[in-house]
Amino acid sequence: MKPPAFAYFAPREVEEALALLAEHGEDARPLAGGQSLIPVLNFRLARPAVLVDLNAIESLAGIGERGGSLHIGAMVRQREVERSPLAARVPLLAETLPHVAHPQIRNRGTMGGSLAHADPAAELPAVAVTLGARLHLRSTSGARDLGAREFFSGLFSTALAPGELLVGMTFPFPAPRSGTAFEEVARRHGDFALMGAAAWVQLDDQGRCTDARLTFVNPGAGAESATQSVAALLGQAPDAAAIRAASESGAAELMITGDMHASPAYRRHLARVLAERVLTRACTRARTPSGT
Ligand code: FAD
Repeated sequence: MKPPAFAYFAPREVEEALALLAEHGEDARPLAGGQSLIPVLNFRLARPAVLVDLNAIESLAGIGERGGSLHIGAMVRQREVERSPLAARVPLLAETLPHVAHPQIRNRGTMGGSLAHADPAAELPAVAVTLGARLHLRSTSGARDLGAREFFSGLFSTALAPGELLVGMTFPFPAPRSGTAFEEVARRHGDFALMGAAAWVQLDDQGRCTDARLTFVNPGAGAESATQSVAALLGQAPDAAAIRAASESGAAELMITGDMHASPAYRRHLARVLAERVLTRACTRARTPSGT
């Protein structure tokens, strides 16, 4: 399959890209790693008249520390984050990234592209919501920052307005006595998950849970509505019974759809089992001196 014809621009500065996106409005699409956009074009699921290639914009690359958080440019490849010693200080990223497709795809696929694409079966939106990442957006009319939960607005949809670019993201470094974990089930390693779960747990000095989030991957809803506050754990030292209760209620409340790969009942079963595993691991890690 070949994509429909499009005009192609490869700006070197963000401002130039924003001007092109503003000029062409809904007819234009940014091109990042192309791992989702090119198949979409080839299948003629979208026919943008203009592609604005972000690959030559150096200011969108780079991993660094900013304001006590991990800052990642939108064009940083997923594989670079996977291998980065600095990004390893956000262990949920390092634990999750090997589940995103295959190394060849992660070598091209970008962090920004995965979040902007907002596939409900993608792992990184769930990680961003679970960790409370902040996403940095720019357009010719200014800049704004959104929490990950506000950024995602449903299946393949986000708060990005026409002409707006995701330029970067920040992930908080883990606080003491916090723990995270990720796990998924896929038919083959590298396939999109049938179901996945990410957990973040914060304990106090007495080992009681003060906050927790559990986000599911691929229930059929977007990451923003697949996340839950796990109320059953709050205010107590989470033992096996509390974790089981939280996992059962988390899976029961989840909006789930089935498809040719798995029925709703099977997906709900996976959600409960995975929730229990990730909450157990996250709590154990929160209790260990080195944390997550
Ligand atoms: P592109 O494909 O270039 O762009 C995707 C969309 O985001 C486009 O609409 C584009 O206009 C928009 N966009 C890109 N960057 C920006 C930006 N900075 N600001 C605003 N809009 C932007 N993903 C998973 O999560 N899990 C998997 O298991 C998985 N398996 C895969 C298997 C295969 C065989 C393939 C081909 C892909 C798979 N993917 C998977 C998708 C992959 O992770 C993509 O890399 C990712 O979804 C998109 O990133 P990209 O940089 O390639 O973006």
